[in-house]
Amino acid sequence: MKQSILVVNCGSSSLKLALFDERSEKIASAVAQRLNEQDAFARIDGDNHTVELPANANHKQALQTLVSALRDRQLMASAPLCIGHRVVHGGETFREAVLIDSDVIETINDCAGLAPLHNPVALAGIEATREQFPDIPQIAAFDTAYHQTLAPRAYLYALPEAYYRDWSVRRYGFHGISHFFMANEAARRLGKTPATTSIISAHLGNGCSITAIKDGLSVDTSMGLTPLEGLVMGTRSGDVDPGLFGYLASRGMTLNEIHEVLNHKSGLLGISGQTNDMRSLCELADHGHEPSALAIEIFCFRLAKYVGAMMASLSHLDALVLTGGIGENSSRVREKTLSHLKLLGFHIDADMNEHHGCYSDGRIEHADSRFPILVIPTNEELVIAREAARLVANS
Ligand code: ADP
Repeated sequence: MKQSILVVNCGSSSLKLALFDERSEKIASAVAQRLNEQDAFARIDGDNHTVELPANANHKQALQTLVSALRDRQLMASAPLCIGHRVVHGGETFREAVLIDSDVIETINDCAGLAPLHNPVALAGIEATREQFPDIPQIAAFDTAYHQTLAPRAYLYALPEAYYRDWSVRRYGFHGISHFFMANEAARRLGKTPATTSIISAHLGNGCSITAIKDGLSVDTSMGLTPLEGLVMGTRSGDVDPGLFGYLASRGMTLNEIHEVLNHKSGLLGISGQTNDMRSLCELADHGHEPSALAIEIFCFRLAKYVGAMMASLSHLDALVLTGGIGENSSRVREKTLSHLKLLGFHIDADMNEHHGCYSDGRIEHADSRFPILVIPTNEELVIAREAARLVANS
């Protein structure tokens, strides 16, 4: 079997693996979920049998089990050529993906204060793969890195400057691996080069963010110091008045409770009182559930406002690009959002919006639209695999 590239994506309770060949074609993928819980489980995509995991399996056990399962099924060569890890926060140090060494690990650890839920699990994944494959080069790709091209006017909050200098308080932005993929893929589909292509890229999944990309570089983005800022998300509030914190505290809420509500009980879930899942919300709304219909309205209106805001960073626009589970699949969200943007010249074609897959290059704009509108499935794993192959070839 040819040598492969292994991509590892550790979430707080999940581990996702993807295996690519040297030409960046995907060979296999696998996932372990509910890690550190009694009912932890794993499976290989496309395989009917679940992979047995011990109760309370951690990231390391899940990795070992899934790697053996991939080998048993002849999907993985004895060891991959290289391994790529997704790491959420690279602070200001990492402007691009890097080969992992002990200094890199220390810096990822230093950034953990800015991403306490995410960086420690990424480090657990790196540690586990280093134990399993001690001689294989590993790289880290960061969700923040792509946004390191933001200018101070876009990344600084209007706070006393010492907060930035002493405590690194600034806007970092996230989903950078996905927005980078969009910048390149949109350029390819438009027949241009990334360095001459300017887009607005909306990643709409459980987490949602939107980025202005000027000539291939991120120049503004909706997420900030943490992935809580910006758009309405599945369970996250996005933007709120900072005065809310003091007000909720005056009503007796603790800092932890406020944090929990804004991150895990707000957004689509909070407004609808039912679910964070857009597909379910659409069904509920169709059955007359008004809070669900309102959640969709607020989601789309906030998104439309942010599309307008992103225009301030661009001198021309080649396309608005939508991705993520909602962006790729919800014609209703696309239609509702773009209905607010007619004044700016965005016009969606109703038929193409319903059947975007049937039309070339995922384009859904009406012939009268001032700008192309594209629906493009994101592929973050592919970006990481390519970065891993590139860095290892150059090393
Ligand atoms: P994550 O950020 O966890 O990777 P995804 O990108 O998979 O999430 O997006 C999940 C969201 O996409 C959910 O809200 C889900 O309901 C929504 N979604 C997926 N398919 C559809 C669909 N056909 N119609 C509407 N929403 C959809």
